[in-house]
Amino acid sequence: MTPDQLKNFIKDVPDFPKAGIVFKDIAPLLASAKARKAMTAAIVSNYKNQKIDVVVGIESRGFLFGMLLAEALEASFVMLRKSNKLPGDIEKFTYDLEYGTDTIEIQTDAIPNGSHVLLHDDVLATGGTAGAAVQLIEKIGGKVISANFIMELDFLEGRKQLGDLDIYSVLHY
Ligand code: IMP
Repeated sequence: MTPDQLKNFIKDVPDFPKAGIVFKDIAPLLASAKARKAMTAAIVSNYKNQKIDVVVGIESRGFLFGMLLAEALEASFVMLRKSNKLPGDIEKFTYDLEYGTDTIEIQTDAIPNGSHVLLHDDVLATGGTAGAAVQLIEKIGGKVISANFIMELDFLEGRKQLGDLDIYSVLHY
């Protein structure tokens, strides 16, 4: 399946979660076994010659393909979660939103020092979430070698938040 064909499995939902926003819904992509496989294969083929020890998925839609990627790449899978969800010793990172702040957390011992990490989420929008995720992973000793997204909203220029980090997004809008 080409990226254009995969776009048929992303639904535009106008005015969600608020007026003026067109939300990209991945539900049709999740529903189709064929599209899921094609999406996973596209991502895996991009990383097949790279050493990846750990895939970190961002809560919650980053868990879905994140786990499929970890399976295919024979890597560990680690959850990066919103506040107060993870037990035990955790490291946090608080970052600015348009109004207010948000906090993400990871278990302190989740990533062996120096591991090669692939960060995964469904959407790269403004880049605030992914930028915070990279900082948090590096704080606990992981080396983020690339960030991967199902889709990137190019007009929001989120990749600017990720400096010169390698980025692979399957679909671009
Ligand atoms: P950012 O921090 O602005 O880059 O937003 C990225 C986060 O918001 C990701 O975790 C996405 O799951 C979520 N997000 C932003 N826009 C959309 C969208 O249109 N569809 C689905 N998720 C979105």
